[in-house]
Amino acid sequence: MSVVRLEHLTKTFPGGTTAVDDLTLTIDDGEFLVLVGPSGCGKSTVLRMIAGLEAVSGGAVSIDDEDVTDWPPKLRDIAMVFQNYALYPHMTVQENMGFALKLRHMDKAEASEKVNDTAGLLGLSTLLDRKPAALSGGQRQRVAMGRALVRRPRVFLLDEPLSNLDAKLRVSMRAELSRLHQRYRITTVYVTHDQVEAMTLGDRIAVLDRGRLQQVGTPDELYREP
Ligand code: ADP
Ligand code: ADP
Repeated sequence: MSVVRLEHLTKTFPGGTTAVDDLTLTIDDGEFLVLVGPSGCGKSTVLRMIAGLEAVSGGAVSIDDEDVTDWPPKLRDIAMVFQNYALYPHMTVQENMGFALKLRHMDKAEASEKVNDTAGLLGLSTLLDRKPAALSGGQRQRVAMGRALVRRPRVFLLDEPLSNLDAKLRVSMRAELSRLHQRYRITTVYVTHDQVEAMTLGDRIAVLDRGRLQQVGTPDELYREP
């Protein structure tokens, strides 16, 4: 079953740049899809249209077979993480991660169980009382991911989430992302320009070039020697 369906999705910015050109792609339930391609090829614009942060110029976005093309971001059951994680500076890790649950009036015990579970997977259990200023960059990015996932959104979007981290940290964070995905199986679209990242993380990889879909397939299908 497909969760996200993009049909003939197109974005032309005022001024005339066509950032996304007739993109048709479906993302299955529980799938980890990586959208890969060089800087400027339209990856962020695709994510922003899925999230409802950017209006489409043509085509449609559906989630669970419902056309959400004109829905505001709030009504889409989506969480998004960027490379510049914006944590609430005055809140602890626990409060940052639990904030979305609090807004939804979730029972305190249930909320703290969810936060603890996600924090455990991300190696944040001993840092729950810290504020963002007292965390490393990698720890902050983990909190941003935890905060996005703690309410178990239908769709998880990540835009180059590791690109501000050093090489060693990027490698270990990949393993953590895989673990999170194994655990929660949330339908994910992950944007990167890094092919190694795409290969290690993706169930399938969609290759974008100048706004157009070039190829889509499993890592094996795309990178196997001919
Ligand atoms: P990527 O995420 O692959 O780096 P983007 O989606 O950010 O690519 O950008 C795709 C193209 O659209 C680029 O040429 C970029 O300059 C252009 N673009 C992105 N956002 C805007 C905007 N708000 N106004 C005009 N052009 C934009
Ligand atoms: P990314 O890291 O996703 O490639 P950019 O640094 O290209 O992001 O863009 C950051 C912001 O600037 C985005 O909101 C994007 O829409 C906007 N933007 C990018 N290119 C242009 C452009 N040519 N004209 C106006 N806004 C742009």
